[in-house]
Amino acid sequence: MINKQELEKIKEKALAEHIPIIMDETLEVIEKYLKKSKPKTMLEIGTAVGYSAICFIDFLAEGGRIDTIERDEQRVREARENIEKVGAANMINIYEGDAVEILPTLNSKYDVCFIDAAKGKYPFFLQQALRLLNDHGIIFADNILYKGYVMSDYNKHKQRTAVRNLREYIKEASENDMLETEILDVGDGLAISRKKWTLRNVPKVHFRLFLYMVCYAWNRNLIFLHNLGYLFLKCLLARNWKFFLF
Ligand code: SAH
Ligand code: MG
Repeated sequence: MINKQELEKIKEKALAEHIPIIMDETLEVIEKYLKKSKPKTMLEIGTAVGYSAICFIDFLAEGGRIDTIERDEQRVREARENIEKVGAANMINIYEGDAVEILPTLNSKYDVCFIDAAKGKYPFFLQQALRLLNDHGIIFADNILYKGYVMSDYNKHKQRTAVRNLREYIKEASENDMLETEILDVGDGLAISRKKWTLRNVPKVHFRLFLYMVCYAWNRNLIFLHNLGYLFLKCLLARNWKFFLF
């Protein structure tokens, strides 16, 4: 368990220094999800001083781990100190450097990705998060509505590159048929994208199992297995994974 007093101090200091840490209501939504799904591995893009990462670790499964990326040297130093202070050094690993360079070098899979860094890079972060996401995984993207600019038609703002890229993120996350995406108007806007169960992302081994079952049943003319195979396919199509396991 994280020392709540220490955490509160980290939060107060970050707020006083205008470091854009996660907002309470956004944190609440993510924590609710983490509580339910108990992920084991999490990737965070944008550590700042480690506040959100420290908040998340209490909700991970036993032996859970967070990898987080930060390019600002000063913030990395402070994050390391904070993580040490709360006794989470063995659970949070910071990659120091630009996420644009670091992400393509990563190869382990994550149950949850939390995107919270340069808004102009969100479409790239999405692409990388998708590559690194486990089946059943989920991607959260903070600041997706960016103070309301993203949904307004005011385009002359000096942040228009950020706004254009955030809009592109929403478009790609919504149109990607591997994902089911919702945009929540909490905090500064939170995008939640879950990996869907479609035939396209059913692991090959399950698909082979299914084909094997059908062939076997066909060979032996076993109506019972025919039906089972049919049910199997139906569940796949309905994306009801729990049925799939019986
Ligand atoms: N997740 C943190 C807040 C992150 S603020 C929390 O809620 O506590 C965003 C951070 O992302 C900043 O510290 C910024 O330095 C970092 N950042 C922005 N673009 C980045 C990039 N391309 N690579 C790595 N870090 C980046
Ligand atoms: Mg943020």
